[in-house]
Parts: sequence; C-alpha cells; structure tokens
Amino acid sequence: MATSDSSPAPQKRQDEFFVKMPFLIELVPEHDRDRPRDQVYLYRYDHNACELKGAGSCDTVAGLYYGTIDKFGGKLCPRHFYESVFGPDRPYTLIDPNDKASDTL
Ligand SMILES: [Zn+2]
Repeated sequence: MATSDSSPAPQKRQDEFFVKMPFLIELVPEHDRDRPRDQVYLYRYDHNACELKGAGSCDTVAGLYYGTIDKFGGKLCPRHFYESVFGPDRPYTLIDPNDKASDTL
C-alpha cells in the first residue's frame, strides 16, 4: 500500500455554507402582487441568524437557516421559516417549480 501526501485534508469546520433548495417562496398576493419568486437557499451558521428571534423560540439545533441567494438578506430558522410559509398569517407561499399548477396562478 503506497503512502501518499494527498491524503484528505483534515475536516475543516465550515462556519457557513449554502445549498440551493428545490423550491421557491413567493409573497402571498395580499402582501405584494408583483413580488418575484425567490429561490430558497439553506445556510448554516454557528450563531442564531434568524431575523425573527424574539418572536418566539428559534430552532437552532442544526444551525440551519433559510434565506435567498442574497447572503446578506434576512434568514429564518426552520421554525420561523415554516411558520412563514404554512402558518395562519403566512406572508409567503411555497412554490414547487415542478408543479405545473403554480404556473397558472
Ligand atoms: Zn427563528
């Protein structure tokens, strides 16, 4: 077995990453009719980056936060993200880009 200097680098702690999620969000019409849809991205931080902290306990267990491509834009913890798209007074609706019905709205 040959030894090699190209062994995998030690696991570097990733403070931040972002992943493109397979869905988009859109403001519900009563908030803004012309609002473009935003691709949802998942970020990871080692601090609570939720813009709704203070509006109820945040889900900080996994350190994951939902936002858009704008790295400096607002982020929501999973709890507040789901409340924002499924809650009774939700400002956003979740759009599945593969759902043909959402194209005809
Ligand atoms: Zn939160």
